[in-house]
Amino acid sequence: MGSMPSPGTRMPAAFIGHGSPMHALRANRYTEAWREFGRSAPRPRAILVISAHWYTNVTAVTAMARPRTIHDFYGFPQELYDLTYPAPGLPELAEEVADLTKPQWVGCDVDSWGIDHGTWSVLRHAFPEASIPVLQLSLNAFQGFDQHLELGRRLRGLRDSGVLIIGSGNVVHTLAALDHTRAEEGFDWARRFDDAARTVLQSTDPTGVAALTGHRDFDNAVPTPDHFLPLLYVAALAGDEPLSLLIDGHQAGSMSMAAYTVGMPAETVGSPSCAGD
Ligand code: ZN
Repeated sequence: MGSMPSPGTRMPAAFIGHGSPMHALRANRYTEAWREFGRSAPRPRAILVISAHWYTNVTAVTAMARPRTIHDFYGFPQELYDLTYPAPGLPELAEEVADLTKPQWVGCDVDSWGIDHGTWSVLRHAFPEASIPVLQLSLNAFQGFDQHLELGRRLRGLRDSGVLIIGSGNVVHTLAALDHTRAEEGFDWARRFDDAARTVLQSTDPTGVAALTGHRDFDNAVPTPDHFLPLLYVAALAGDEPLSLLIDGHQAGSMSMAAYTVGMPAETVGSPSCAGD
């Protein structure tokens, strides 16, 4: 875990491809990358997560002091339903978010949501102590890509007030095409779309990713907007900073596990060195 942010520290932001809820229980190259991200980031005063799994008919932010752990999936092992992520909330930050996003209305949710698996399956690895307050911002299904980008821009100021923002989704998320015989492979169309997204995200205008609706593989890769939208927020939060690839890979043919960060402190320790090879 990093140290407390000094005043003036701009917090990083990240997009995490979360994939199957089972990653919550696993240790693999993805969960290791998430863990390393949490270890390397300056310690935030709170974490705001925009999760694919809170895709609803309003824009809302969780505002409860003790958000519950939500097990929003079916047919998984009991062990997964037994997991909890007991991080506190931070109601005053929810008010701050609602103020910052005006004139867009953001409702403070005190009793409907909590911490869903898009959030806890990642945070369990990135911030295993569950000691940092966690808020979620919903994805308003009635808004277009431009409105989501605009909301992401309005949240940018939070990066300068100690808030770590994470978008949790998947660049390619096509459940209907999942092929579990292709454990660590992507279909050609999935790889093409993921590569196209990477090129835009690593440019000086990451928000250009919103224009990928015109890509020939968009309809296959993004059959519904929920897992793609968190990426738009992180692109908007980056401004003109290119995103850095945290990890990439494909699972079951039609799930991209790519994750990106922006604004991480420069690595001073732990970098692999080729010297002496
Ligand atoms: Zn998901």
